[in-house]
Amino acid sequence: MATIDIKALDPEHTVVVATGNPHKVTEIEAILSKSVPGVHFVALGELGDFPDPVEDGANFFENALIKARAAVAETGLPMAIADDSGLCVDALDGAPGIFSARWAGEHGNDDANNDKLERLMVNVPDERRGARFHSTVVLVRGGEVLRGDGDCEGTIGHERRGDHGFGYDPLFLPADTPGKTMAELTPGEKNAISHRFHALEDLAGKL
Ligand code: IMP
Repeated sequence: MATIDIKALDPEHTVVVATGNPHKVTEIEAILSKSVPGVHFVALGELGDFPDPVEDGANFFENALIKARAAVAETGLPMAIADDSGLCVDALDGAPGIFSARWAGEHGNDDANNDKLERLMVNVPDERRGARFHSTVVLVRGGEVLRGDGDCEGTIGHERRGDHGFGYDPLFLPADTPGKTMAELTPGEKNAISHRFHALEDLAGKL
């Protein structure tokens, strides 16, 4: 259900955020509004019920670009931003990577995804449990495409801990917060070290 009328927006000062997650809009706005003052960030879901595009890109950048371009096409507004993120595990040759959300089959089944990760890592020794979250953020601005990339380095834990966050957070121990899983961090602590934060900072430096 649309809560904002697209026709009431100023196209030159509006960036559509191609996400259904309101927390991402707040995070993106907090970091980018310093670099693009006077611009208003609006979630795609506030403008209408648009179908999700098929994310059939070969990498994080291509999938983020598919989402940003779809938001431009659906709304008719010239500026849109999208991110694509995932977990890359060294001992699994970078898997699940771009397949992070649907690794165990059903899209967004975090429990099943974490079961699979625990199962595949059960015999992997501590020194080979390195991993990182990666995020690529893409801003489409008229004919221009800008990107930002960020990583959050860490290791895969032996058991799930913590109730915050989502996805693989309970099994991921960021190098920046020794002894704590990502799911044991407050949202503020996570936002200060996350892959999305670093990707947005990278993008902000290019605006
Ligand atoms: P998205 O591109 O942000 O929708 O992320 C795709 C998938 O990657 C999610 O469904 C999660 O499985 C995983 N993922 C991305 N970011 C995070 C994170 O911050 N914590 C845990 N899992 C994440």
